[in-house]
Amino acid sequence: MFLHGTSRQNERGHLEIGGVDVLTLAEKYGTPLYVYDVALIRERARKFQKAFQEAGLKAQVAYASKAFSSVAMIQLAGEEGLSLDVVSGGELFTAIQAGFPVERIHFHGNNKSPVELQMALQHQIGCIVLDNFHEIAITEQLCKRMEQTVNVLLRITPGVEAHTHDYITTGQEDSKFGFDLHNGQVEQAIEKVLQSPAFHLLGVHCHIGSQIFDTAGFVLAADKIFEKLTEWRETYSFVPKVLNLGGGFGIRYTEEDEPLPADFYVEKIIEAVKTNAEHFGFEIPEIWIEPGRSLVGDAGTTLYTIGSQKQVPGIRKYVAVDGGMNDNLRPALYEAKYEAAVANKLNTACDQTVSIAGKCCESGDMLIWDLEVPEVYDGDLLAVFCTGAYGYSMANNYNRIPRPAVVFVEDGEAQLVIQRETYEDIIKLDLPLKSKVK
Ligand SMILES: *Cc1c(COP(=O)(O)O)cnc(C)c1O
Repeated sequence: MFLHGTSRQNERGHLEIGGVDVLTLAEKYGTPLYVYDVALIRERARKFQKAFQEAGLKAQVAYASKAFSSVAMIQLAGEEGLSLDVVSGGELFTAIQAGFPVERIHFHGNNKSPVELQMALQHQIGCIVLDNFHEIAITEQLCKRMEQTVNVLLRITPGVEAHTHDYITTGQEDSKFGFDLHNGQVEQAIEKVLQSPAFHLLGVHCHIGSQIFDTAGFVLAADKIFEKLTEWRETYSFVPKVLNLGGGFGIRYTEEDEPLPADFYVEKIIEAVKTNAEHFGFEIPEIWIEPGRSLVGDAGTTLYTIGSQKQVPGIRKYVAVDGGMNDNLRPALYEAKYEAAVANKLNTACDQTVSIAGKCCESGDMLIWDLEVPEVYDGDLLAVFCTGAYGYSMANNYNRIPRPAVVFVEDGEAQLVIQRETYEDIIKLDLPLKSKVK
């Protein structure tokens, strides 16, 4: 069993996170329950930032809040000096409500609505990452109408796509995001943005993938961008102040995953940018990165109560828990793999292999296909590890199941940061039928 951060086995053979026995959390807050190891989030945040500080470089580490957004989480990111990526009006609203410094908010997305853009402009956020020509046009109009200007980055697709251990390079990238680096789109966008009095073009952005275990893709993206920067310096006298290389740093979900340390990704990115800047005669731009998963993923653990079991003779045993694809969509969506342990029986030997089923009316609602566990009974507590990213943020009310609560634990204390939904919440927006039947 691999334990992340402050997670450990205590004297009673129970799982403890942040100095708190998870059985007391389950008792107090119920299950399913998301538990975040706050010290681990802080450690990750500091590691990314320290790597830039040690290199003496100006940088921003922006938390990609789509991984897990809540008022308390955004406040934690603010406390740790991170910047923030938002990708929708809802994420932006959460950030504003959390009192996050607006000048450190960056707005992403491939179809930001005029209303969302207007909200971003009203709050004078740090920058808008322009994704397409439509957005350039409507943002420019809005700026005119609102008599203001805005800092922007251009999102480019560099033709490098990275996944786990490999990356692929394509001349032309087939992606819904950004301006293609190789077919003249970026140049057209640069011209439009530089011509407009509405925009201050800070630089360019790319995001090459997710759950990446290698640094080659980032280096290649930097190389490709710098080649173009030299052209743009000639043609447009444009020299970027900011180079944003996105997020996607991988984490360990299971023993198959071998992530690199946070600072190693940063060191390689710095090296690539420095080498290129020196080679082509640029000042080193501010480097921005956008970790999401790698800041919060392994800091999250979901606690479930075990309920029914079904033995299919000669095939497998299903063990069902009180959550599932409602609170963790990733196994159903991406066949994502997780590790787990019976949190109240950590020192009991595992002598059987079972499959962990969710409670939704969907055969695909399986959390883990083969898990070694001791003999388990209803009422035992299952802890699924590494659920901190894209867990709560993708949670849904399928089967009208209320979404779980979220607690932060740190230094032996627990703090409720998102309340459990109630059945009243479930029907809150429903309106009764206007009946036509007399
Ligand atoms: C999703 C996303 C991220 C974060 O990705 P992770 O894999 O969670 O690190 C960063 N930047 C952009 C533009 C994204 O869309």
